[in-house]
Amino acid sequence: MNDQFMQIKRLEQMDNHTFTIEWSDGQVNDYHLSTLQQRCPCANCTDEQTGKRRVGIKNIENVGAQRIVSVGRYALRVYFTSGCSAGIFGFDMLRNL
Ligand SMILES: [Zn+2]
Repeated sequence: MNDQFMQIKRLEQMDNHTFTIEWSDGQVNDYHLSTLQQRCPCANCTDEQTGKRRVGIKNIENVGAQRIVSVGRYALRVYFTSGCSAGIFGFDMLRNL
């Protein structure tokens, strides 16, 4: 199956720090929000010039999500409790984590 057309069948928040995605091909993945924010591509979390992380792992160890919404048919946007709400996570990136 082509990942480009991969869709989310089910998204379930397991607890404050973890959520699960069931993909349209039946694959199920668990995601820790701290892992996601570590990879967040937004300017708050990553220095665009140097590529350095602006958010220390210690600060986001217990990060949660206020909301998780879909962006079009290809990505999720996560509103982290640690202040970042600009993180867009493509389905292809999530599948490859
Ligand atoms: Zn961010």
